Amino acid sequence: MRNCKKCTLCCEYMEVPGVAAHFEGCPNTNYRGCSKYAERPDTCKQFFCMWARGEIPQYLYPPDCGMVLASLVPDLTGGQACVIAFVKHVERLPALKDALVELTKVPMVVWLRTPSGSQFLGNEIAVSKVHSSLINLAEASEAKYVEEDTPVTIPIEDNLEIL
Ligand code: SF4
Ligand code: SF4
Repeated sequence: MRNCKKCTLCCEYMEVPGVAAHFEGCPNTNYRGCSKYAERPDTCKQFFCMWARGEIPQYLYPPDCGMVLASLVPDLTGGQACVIAFVKHVERLPALKDALVELTKVPMVVWLRTPSGSQFLGNEIAVSKVHSSLINLAEASEAKYVEEDTPVTIPIEDNLEIL
């Protein structure tokens, strides 16, 4: 496991259920760490992004690249490997394009989420599998796994231009 060091981006970019929506920022973060570290929820204790897990290259350290990558369990995605890529500042997307394309070659579906929209990147069949799986889950649980207006667009070359 890698040391997060000064990073707190998962606390700033990701939803904290019942507390903060994506990109709102958890009220407990002080941008150096967690002000309620000892009492933080179990979901926080158990979470490590893909960089912290050592699953992606060093240069994708979240504070350096502006992106947090989190993997979804296959139970949620119809068995298809899928990661969520949180990017708050869309102007950083062009610099991330090569890394995102590489992830889709694994082959992986990338659910790219930004404050101005979200979309799925990857092979058409894999994207369709993940998307329908998430919609079914959302309908069954009323959870907001996927917004109704989430566009499913490919190829990736076009995708990054519509955000
Ligand atoms: S985004 Fe990753 S590196 Fe940054 S604090 Fe969270 S787990 Fe650690
Ligand atoms: S409770 Fe603490 S660890 Fe959990 S998201 Fe908020 S600041 Fe981060």
